[in-house]
Amino acid sequence: MIQDVFCKIIKGELKADIVYKDEEFWVIKDINPQAPVHLLIIPAEHFLKIEDFADGAELLGKAFLLADKMAHEQGLERGYRLVVNEGEHGGKLVPHFHIHLLGGKRLGPKIIQ
Ligand code: AMP
Repeated sequence: MIQDVFCKIIKGELKADIVYKDEEFWVIKDINPQAPVHLLIIPAEHFLKIEDFADGAELLGKAFLLADKMAHEQGLERGYRLVVNEGEHGGKLVPHFHIHLLGGKRLGPKIIQ
């Protein structure tokens, strides 16, 4: 089975700039930041897309709560943006569910891909 880059990072096969990790999530810095703060909230378990959380929606909720917590820890008190890209038209590049956390400046309308 071909592994996506986030699975490789979580297995320790690829390096990443890790901001936070626990048993359920990893938070890393995006390698190609689109804003002064650009983090990726990634479940340690492989989920491809939102519908894959149908039997465990609590984890999906936790991902968003963690994104908000990270935003506060990064000092984004003036606001932030969360982005989930899906599919070809959504501009999804890595086939492993993740939330982009962007902030640190006033974001324009076309901030992510
Ligand atoms: P998406 O288009 O939503 O799939 O976004 C994937 C994101 O992962 C992009 O913003 C990439 O810059 C980022 N990315 C790809 N490879 C790595 C990596 N090895 N470490 C950190 N971020 C990465």
